[in-house]
Amino acid sequence: MLYGWTGKSLRVNLSSKDFTIESLHPHLTHFLGGKGINAKVLWDEVMPETKPFDPENRLIFGAGTLTGTLVPTSCKGSVTTKSPQTGRYFDSSIGGFWPAQLKFAGFDQLIVQGKAKDPSYLFINDGDFHLRDASHLWGMDVQETTHCLTEELKKETDDSDIQILSIGVSGENQVYSAGIMSSLSNSASRGGVGAVMGSKNLKAIAVRGTRDLAVADPEGLIQLCKTLLDKTGDIRKEVTDLDEIETLCNTSTYGNHEELPSGPLRGAEDLTERMENVCREFNKEYTRQFSCFNCPIACRHRIQIPGQDVSHMHCEGWFNPVYKSKSFDLKSIAQLMADCQKLGLDYFAVTSHTALLMDLLEKGIISEKDIDGLSMQWGDAKVMAALAGKIARKEGCGELFAKGIVNAAASFGHEAEEHVVHSKGMEVSSYCLSLLGIALPSAINERGDLLRSLGAVVGHYMMRSEEDKEKIAAFLPAEVVDLLNDLINDLLNPKLNAQVTAYFERINTLTDILGVCRWACNFMPYGIMTPAEFTQLISCVTGEKIDEEQLTEIDQRVTTLIRAFNVREGLRREHDTIPEKFFKEVSPRWGLAVDRDIFESAVTEYYTLRGWDESGFPRKETLMNLGLEYVYEDLQSRTGHYV
Ligand code: SF4
Repeated sequence: MLYGWTGKSLRVNLSSKDFTIESLHPHLTHFLGGKGINAKVLWDEVMPETKPFDPENRLIFGAGTLTGTLVPTSCKGSVTTKSPQTGRYFDSSIGGFWPAQLKFAGFDQLIVQGKAKDPSYLFINDGDFHLRDASHLWGMDVQETTHCLTEELKKETDDSDIQILSIGVSGENQVYSAGIMSSLSNSASRGGVGAVMGSKNLKAIAVRGTRDLAVADPEGLIQLCKTLLDKTGDIRKEVTDLDEIETLCNTSTYGNHEELPSGPLRGAEDLTERMENVCREFNKEYTRQFSCFNCPIACRHRIQIPGQDVSHMHCEGWFNPVYKSKSFDLKSIAQLMADCQKLGLDYFAVTSHTALLMDLLEKGIISEKDIDGLSMQWGDAKVMAALAGKIARKEGCGELFAKGIVNAAASFGHEAEEHVVHSKGMEVSSYCLSLLGIALPSAINERGDLLRSLGAVVGHYMMRSEEDKEKIAAFLPAEVVDLLNDLINDLLNPKLNAQVTAYFERINTLTDILGVCRWACNFMPYGIMTPAEFTQLISCVTGEKIDEEQLTEIDQRVTTLIRAFNVREGLRREHDTIPEKFFKEVSPRWGLAVDRDIFESAVTEYYTLRGWDESGFPRKETLMNLGLEYVYEDLQSRTGHYV
C-alpha cells in the first residue's frame, strides 16, 4: 500500500475528450512528487518542435509528496508547462487549497493536453471526471467564474467544499503575463501558464475530493508536526511586523527603478518614512490574516476596500512602480491588485511593465503618445490599473505587452530594449542585479527569475545585523551559516556565490517537490523546516527512508533534467546572463558594476557544482550517475554534443 502518495496521475486529452488514469509508481523513487514528477512528463512528452500554444504542449499540475497531510504548510503544488514567455521550461508554484483537494480526489498529478473545441471546464469529482461546456463562463473575470462555478457545482453535489482554478480574460486572450488563479487569492502567476490554459480553451478546473489520505506513521507525524508548530512561535505577528516589511522593501533598487528606495543602507529618510506610513496604514486597514491549507504562518492579508476584498501576500511587488511617488495611496494599490487578480494577471509582471514605461518616459525614449496618451506618474495606481486592463484585453498599447516585456520594449526601438530588466525574457524581481550574489541566481535560473533561489538574496540582506545572524544560526545548518558568513566577508568570491546559490536553489526545488511552502523553509523569520526535517517528514508520511544525501541527489536529478530540457530547447551558456547595463553601470546601491570575468567564473563554478560542463550541458557522467541515460541519448542524437 502507498502512503502519502495516491500513486495516480489523471490525464485528460481535451481534443479527444478522453480521460486515462496512469500509475506514477515507476517515477516516485527518482522524482518524488510535485515539480519532480511534472518535469519528467514535460521531458518525455513536450519536444522542441512543440510551440507553447500548440495543443501538444502539456499543462501539468503536480501535488507534492507531503501535500494534503498534517505537515504545516503542506498546501503546495506545481504547474509546469513550456512557457510562451520564455519558450522553455516553466513551473509556477500554487498554494491555497486546490493541490490538497486534488490529492483528496485521488490524484497526485493532472496532465492536460490537446485543445478543447469550445470553451470548456473540467470537473474532477472524486472518481468521476467531466469535460463540460464553459461558454457561459468565458469572458467572466476570475471572481465571477469562481462564484458562478461554485454555486453550480454546490447545487449538483450538495457540497460547498469545491476548489476551483480558473483563468481571467488575460488567459483567454493568451497574454504572456496571464496566470492561473486558485479561488480568489492564490495563483500560479508567472511565465504565462494562464495563457497556455487559455490556448487550450480551458476556462477552469474544479476539484472535489472527499477521500482519506493515509500516512505511514500517524503517531510519529503528529509528534513531529507538534515540534514544528512549537517552532512557529510569534510567526503570525512577525508577518505583520513593520521591520520585516521594511526589510523586504530595502531590497528593491536600481534596474527600472533606478534609485535606492529605503534608508538603512543609504540615507533616503523621506522614502523610509513614506514606506513606514504605508505599512502602518496597511496594518491598520487589513481586516484579517488568512492562510493556505494547513499553514500556521498565515502570511496573507485581506484588505477591505469598498465593494470588494483583495488579498496580498507580501509588499515587494507593491513598491515596484510606486516608491518614487510623493505619497502612497494604499487603497489605489489594493484596487490595482484586485483588478489584476480579477483579470488573472501576474501583478508582479504588470508592475514591472509599468516601471519600464515610467523609466522610458523619464528618459525621453518614449512619449505619452506611444502609450495611448496615458499620463503615467510614479505611484499612480489608477493609471497602472488602466494599463493592466489594456494588457489583459490586448487593447492599444496593452497589445505590445501581451507578448511579454522584451517584445514590448523591442517595439519601442533599440534604445528601449537596452533598458529592459529581464533574464531569459522574464521580468526579474526588484533586487539589485549589480551584486554578484543576486546576479548569479538570476542568470542561471531555469525559468529566468531568481525566485527559485531567493533565500540566497535574503541571506545577503539579513546577515547585516547581529540579531539576524542569531536567527539564521538558530535555523540553518551550521555549514550553510558558515558559508553565508564567508560570503558576507567576500562578496565577489565566485565559488562562495555558486555554493550559496546552489544551496537555496536546492531548498526551493525540494519544497516544490514536497509541496510545502518555501517561506517555511528558507526564510529565517518564518523558517521551521530544513532538509533534516524533510527526511523525517517523508518517512512519517510515506514510510520511505530517504536521507539528506538522497534528497540532494533528487534535487540534482530534477534540476539536471530541467536543464537538459532547456538545452534541448536551445538554451546555451550565453543565455545564462543578466542585462548588459549591469556590467556597464555602477549601481547606486552597491557602488559597483558586475565584473564580467568574475561573473563568468561564478557561472562556471555553479555549472561545476551541478556536474555540467563549461558550455552548460549536463556532463555525460552526471546524466549516467543520476539514472538519466535516456536524456543523454536524446541530447546526443539531437545535438551531437558528446564526442
Ligand atoms: S506562508 Fe503564506 S504562502 Fe506559504 S503556505 Fe502559509 S499562507 Fe500560504
